[in-house]
Amino acid sequence: MEENTPKRNVFFYLLGAMIAFGLFIGTIFPFFAEYLLGTEKALSTQFKALCLAAGLLVGLVNYLLFHLVISRELDRIIKGMYEISTNIKKALLQQIHSDKPCELKVTSRDRLGEVILAFNSMGHTIDERQRRERQLREAMNTLSDSVDLTFVGQVILTHIPAPPIWQHALLYMLIEGNYRCIAMKNVNILSVVATLRSEDLGFLDAISLDHFKTMAIEDTCFKTLELFQSGTPHRPTHVTIAPLTGDETIIGFIVTACHEFVPLSSEHQQWCRTYCDYVQPYLRNALLHAKIEKLATIDELSQILNRRAGMHRLYKEYSAAQRHRISISLILFDIDYFKKINDICGHQTGDKVIRELCRRMQVNLRDEDILFRYGGEEFVVILPHIDLTGAALCAERIRYFIHDKPFCIGQNELQVRISLGVVSWPQVQEEGIEPDDLLNLADKALYLAKQQGRNQVAVQTDTHILPFTQYLNSLEKNGTS
Ligand code: GH3
Ligand code: MG
Ligand code: MG
Repeated sequence: MEENTPKRNVFFYLLGAMIAFGLFIGTIFPFFAEYLLGTEKALSTQFKALCLAAGLLVGLVNYLLFHLVISRELDRIIKGMYEISTNIKKALLQQIHSDKPCELKVTSRDRLGEVILAFNSMGHTIDERQRRERQLREAMNTLSDSVDLTFVGQVILTHIPAPPIWQHALLYMLIEGNYRCIAMKNVNILSVVATLRSEDLGFLDAISLDHFKTMAIEDTCFKTLELFQSGTPHRPTHVTIAPLTGDETIIGFIVTACHEFVPLSSEHQQWCRTYCDYVQPYLRNALLHAKIEKLATIDELSQILNRRAGMHRLYKEYSAAQRHRISISLILFDIDYFKKINDICGHQTGDKVIRELCRRMQVNLRDEDILFRYGGEEFVVILPHIDLTGAALCAERIRYFIHDKPFCIGQNELQVRISLGVVSWPQVQEEGIEPDDLLNLADKALYLAKQQGRNQVAVQTDTHILPFTQYLNSLEKNGTS
């Protein structure tokens, strides 16, 4: 690096210039005096020497006065600049933000004042840059703690470096071929379109991979969006779309909205662009993680939880139920005569039956119920908070809606039947009973249902296994139905 040792000395030049000017005036003054006063004495050697001496003196005094006045002001500026520099260094070392202002007081309306103004502007830029970098660092630290897509999305929106008016945001990511909203900020959740349809995405055509686009709300599919500003709802007037890219494709985009249009300054745009570049890898990782997690927990054929993931959920729900002393029930069911379906219609049709069965189940269960493939054509439904009677009724309902309509698989119309075994905690409350024991009991009940002729529900009570109707009768007898 070139060493910064200046060779010029402006004050020395100024001294030279002032003395030269004094001597010049001292030299020409006798001629003016002779012309104006008409006396030969003005050209005498003594008078000339006197004028030169006076010129020299005035030059020197001028320089000293100038030096005195300017130096004082310069000293103040230099001292202030060094103080600010020390503050910035301290803040940088301690990784904190200095709350002392990066500016000097402007005391004169001249070039010196302008120097201070220019310095203050530089100080503000450094200050702002430090603030942004700190924000970015904080966001990155939080982001590196998690690969959960929703969490990562929420952190990204929390730290978005847009001005306050643009602090309403949505994050859409491309998941299984659709853009889904995974995070939002300062918007009414009910007004958000959760998944965008392909006809909603016209606005994406106007976006290049690395630029933002601000659009009037009418030109987008976000017309119904409602923004919250200090608890008050507003309609957006404009949105800015910031694409997020991976492998030259748009893997998602951030929508920021405002309800009073103030264009994003080029500086803000630059910050937002940099921010998007920084957060993109975290989103790509989280997307990848979600895919891997899905592969690890979802059964490929039935598209429901696999046995490992299902058992994990069962352990979790069971221990929560025990902790809070609330009921939990299990239904284990198996397709009746499934071998026949395979033998007569082929294995592929059998696969389609499994898929259709699971689809029907998912439509008919509550959100909090957990369905998983236990093995082959055996499935488990975990019913948190449901007691034995509730579970028995639920099992009968499941049996009915599978039995009710035939399965249309290609050309075939198949009558699919299932048998179900039901068990509930704390109805069975042996000492130290584990989820696997509950499943064994459900399996015994299922076995009875099969033995009794299939296409029916069997219920494991605290003492017996009863077919569904007998169980209901027993409840009526005991007056508890
Ligand atoms: P039951 O009424 O006693 O249950 O008679 P079943 O014929 O259904 O007997 P079982 O429950 O033992 O049937 C298991 C059969 O399910 C054997 C196996 O070929 C078939 N199976 C298991 N998994 C799959 C699968 O993923 N796809 C297909 N197509 N068949 C499967
Ligand atoms: Mg079977
Ligand atoms: Mg079976």
